[in-house]
Amino acid sequence: MLLSLNHIQFTHPHLYRAFSKLADGERHLNHIIELDRYWDRLKQPVQQVILPGERMPKEARISGEYDLVYAGGTLSLLHAAVMAGKHGRKVMIFDRQTPAKSTRDWNISRKELLNLSAIGLLTESEVDSVIVRRYKTGWVEFYQPDGHQKRLTMENVLDCAVDADKLLALAKEKVMAPASSTLFAATSFTCCYQFDDHIVVQVEDRQGNPFWYKANVLVDVMGILSPIAMQLNEGFPQTHVCPTVGTIASGFENVDFDTGEILASIGPADTSSGKGRQLIWEGFPAKGQQYITYLFFYDEADSPNDKSLLSLFETYFRTLPEYKKPGAGFMIHRPVYGIIPAYCHDGFNRTREIADNRIILFGDAASLASPLTFCGFGSMVRNLHHLTADLDRALSENNMSKKHLEQISAYEPNVASMANLMKYMCFNSATDEPNFVNDLMNEVMIVLDDLPQHYRQAMFRDEMKIEELAMVMLRLAWRYPKVLAVSWDKLGLQGSVGFFKNIVGWAISSVK
Ligand SMILES: Cc1cc2nc3c(=O)[nH]c(=O)nc-3n(C[C@H](O)[C@H](O)[C@H](O)COP(=O)(O)OP(=O)(O)OC[C@H]3O[C@@H](n4cnc5c(N)ncnc54)[C@H](O)[C@@H]3O)c2cc1C
Repeated sequence: MLLSLNHIQFTHPHLYRAFSKLADGERHLNHIIELDRYWDRLKQPVQQVILPGERMPKEARISGEYDLVYAGGTLSLLHAAVMAGKHGRKVMIFDRQTPAKSTRDWNISRKELLNLSAIGLLTESEVDSVIVRRYKTGWVEFYQPDGHQKRLTMENVLDCAVDADKLLALAKEKVMAPASSTLFAATSFTCCYQFDDHIVVQVEDRQGNPFWYKANVLVDVMGILSPIAMQLNEGFPQTHVCPTVGTIASGFENVDFDTGEILASIGPADTSSGKGRQLIWEGFPAKGQQYITYLFFYDEADSPNDKSLLSLFETYFRTLPEYKKPGAGFMIHRPVYGIIPAYCHDGFNRTREIADNRIILFGDAASLASPLTFCGFGSMVRNLHHLTADLDRALSENNMSKKHLEQISAYEPNVASMANLMKYMCFNSATDEPNFVNDLMNEVMIVLDDLPQHYRQAMFRDEMKIEELAMVMLRLAWRYPKVLAVSWDKLGLQGSVGFFKNIVGWAISSVK
């Protein structure tokens, strides 16, 4: 049942007022509530959605046969466009909302985005057409009560604002160019039935009517809500999360349209409930007079904090003027939101399950990106070439076993190691002073500022080499010895061993 905005009038008054001015405020409210179901699902028994073939209902009639069936219609479009256009595969994509419509916009550098033309998905001019703004510079800054925080500036990092829907619409055109491709909206994944030589995907339309599609491989790109990821990872699909909300708006006073504010904390941790949280803002100029602001925090997936997007949105609208002041002509064009997933691997290599026989997970469903800097979009762009070429080879060789498919992944040892640093940014009022995260991060900014520009670019572009991270950590420990004791609070024995294993895995991969 759809919820009306009136339901939140008294519980979330700032959100209510802001969304009431939007033509589609109610639709967004319901989408946010759908995403917030994630928190309840973590506490419920795991739903079994991967089923053996013999459990397929006798009345099931196959409505279509494909090489690849994609569940979820966001990043899947980039992958499917290459599989259909370059590799000639017959693809089908379905989404329970509208495929190719995202609830976010993306930032990346142009050099990275050009991977899409290198792989033949877009022309270079198409790549440029989805970049709606380029900035001269960007900065990162963490609050200090005396106002003496280090502002770390950097160039060519996340300096292009991409119109996500325009990029996805272009990818959709490429997917649909071959007559054999199919795309369905308002179609939900129900379950799948594994057979030795194929898989059958059961979906349902908005009226609850079931349909069955046969495929060589089911590609799960259902994002953080993926029930397949939930089953394969036995109810623990993420170790950490980064709830994020914001708007694309115009009419702020005094915004700098040439500069990206990559990370900006403006106060100590909010300790009003649970374990507390260190809120962080981001500000990115977008198309024309539009400006994107985000508010987010890092947390453990199972912390006692209220991590709902609904209440984060209330905080966002209540405190936005402390970050950027809305002027007289302030207008929200669209809200942006989502739960950014993270997974810390307890091993020398990937430990998260990302495949099963005839099933492969990509994007947020696979949760292999780092939430620290780039997230799933950057990871997909970086890895698209091998994620498509390797899956095409698997199809040609008819090798769709779990063992083989799980080798086709966006796992990057450096990204996995760096993701551990997020644990230092998860505030805990039991062990941390209110300004702990800011103090630590301010020291990291000072260390990076003393090193050549390349270090900060590498860190914020997920390109760090092991010797570069070692240099940063040694310098940090020298300047701020407290970090050594803090590591015990933040990582504990298991986390410290896990981090060490990740680093060893990274070192081994660097010499291979
Ligand atoms: C506010 C925000 C800003 C971001 N900015 C950046 C950035 O600047 N750079 C970057 O690299 N990354 C960024 N990210 C991360 C990036 O947006 C995600 O990694 C990316 O969208 C993941 O895409 P996905 O296709 O895997 O999942 P999603 O985008 O979550 O898409 C999943 C799709 O699956 C559908 N679906 C879910 N369940 C079902 C079901 N049962 N049946 C059918 N369909 C289903 C959903 O409707 C949805 O369309 C940002 C994220 C947020 C929240």
